[in-house]
Amino acid sequence: MSVSERLYYADSFLRGFSAAVTDVRELLRSEGESVWQLALDRTAFYPASGGQPSDTGMLQATSRGGAVLDLPVESVEEDEHGEVWHFVRKPLTAGTHVEGRIDWPRRFDHMQQHTGQHLLSAVFLRELQAATVSFHLGENLSTIDLACAPPAHHSLERVERIANEIIAEDRVVSARYLERAEAESMLAAGDLRKLPERSGRIRLIEIAGYDRNACGGTHVRSTGQIGGLLLRGTEKVTRGVRLEFVCGLRAVRAARADFGVLSQAVGALSVGPADLPAAVERLKSDLKAGAKERQRLIEQLADYHAARLAVEVPIEKGLRLVQRSWRDRDRDYVRLLASRLAAAAPSTVAVLGSEDGGLVRMVLSRSMDLDFHCGQLMKEALAGFGLRGGGSPDLAQGDVPPEHAAALRGALVEALRAALEPPRSSQPS
Ligand SMILES: [Zn+2]
Repeated sequence: MSVSERLYYADSFLRGFSAAVTDVRELLRSEGESVWQLALDRTAFYPASGGQPSDTGMLQATSRGGAVLDLPVESVEEDEHGEVWHFVRKPLTAGTHVEGRIDWPRRFDHMQQHTGQHLLSAVFLRELQAATVSFHLGENLSTIDLACAPPAHHSLERVERIANEIIAEDRVVSARYLERAEAESMLAAGDLRKLPERSGRIRLIEIAGYDRNACGGTHVRSTGQIGGLLLRGTEKVTRGVRLEFVCGLRAVRAARADFGVLSQAVGALSVGPADLPAAVERLKSDLKAGAKERQRLIEQLADYHAARLAVEVPIEKGLRLVQRSWRDRDRDYVRLLASRLAAAAPSTVAVLGSEDGGLVRMVLSRSMDLDFHCGQLMKEALAGFGLRGGGSPDLAQGDVPPEHAAALRGALVEALRAALEPPRSSQPS
């Protein structure tokens, strides 16, 4: 059985066509929903291939009774035999006559990006000897993968400028067929950029006086219709470098979106666009200086806070036991305070708690003149609640659920008092 004739080979500007259904397949999707695949004797719909998404559009069928049925074409795929399948939500019987109409703005956009890719790949090869290994046409951005190291910024600017000069020259983009042997000799002579593996006649796409490439896709009629080309970001990939680009209205949309972001940023900083990088650098440096100053103040505050607590809590029976707890106080600050308190005053033990949202962070510290192991003591007290934690000889911490915080505090105080008690001298009985 012969496969459908691809009308876009001869005329990529064909938007509508008449055809007959030649085959129907049901494709079961999840939740019992069916998608129907229709093959036609001829089609202008481009199937997803070579990095370019498929066309979408409409098939209109008219019944013998005159009823008109519109079937949206959601996607189009080709199979391994070269048949083109149109995905629709209702079946048609073989032999039904249909009028097809492709979504033209979508197709024209794809032709701009795709022809732009031919041109871009040709410029990269000529200027940087960088061969294109793959192409992807996405919803908003297109990419090519180049087999080379990431090009320098000025090289990218040069490639972009040359591509746009060729666009402005409005060179003819044409398609013709040649025999495989002829194509192979052109490739060997360096007159053809790329040749696919498959056998049979070769469709040659030529940008007049600049590039020849074998391709079965859809293209604009002249480079001017590409409308302009904008290079975007680059990214290192396994095989080389991935380069984002946009053509035509996509380039205008991308530049418009960038300008919107830029306007917001310069508006927020009250500077002109050219001064934005310097203004951001200033902000970063101010931020760094601010963070340093804040840290200095926090440490100073902890010292004053520690001195005040030492005054508030007198030494009783040889021990200054400072117990405090805070809600929504930074845990790092509470730890710092415990450490500064123990360093500032002798015979001092701090049992400090801070709760921010979930668990209570309990910190235990002692001054150097006392002799017990904070880490060991904390570990044992937490173990009583099935929790873990610990620390060094003079500072330890652990997290405890709020309902156990008071009990943990009690256990810690009891344990440290026991640890500090002078050993009883054994009296002979
Ligand atoms: Zn092409």
